[in-house]
Amino acid sequence: MNSLDQQSVDCPYCGEPIEVLIDHEEAGQQYIEDCQVCCRPITFSVSMDTDGDVSVAVYSEDESF
Ligand SMILES: [Zn+2]
Repeated sequence: MNSLDQQSVDCPYCGEPIEVLIDHEEAGQQYIEDCQVCCRPITFSVSMDTDGDVSVAVYSEDESF
């Protein structure tokens, strides 16, 4: 089974949809990647629910979390 999940999120700055590949081993972690469209740093927060499904939330750098 592939542990990589592809999900689509919207950039918190420009609203463009971004495809992200999430490794299940990244659950509970946060990382920062620049938007491919507007080149601003997006914080990705990876979480796993009780079913073992991973999901990702995005934050702009001026949002507190
Ligand atoms: Zn963007």
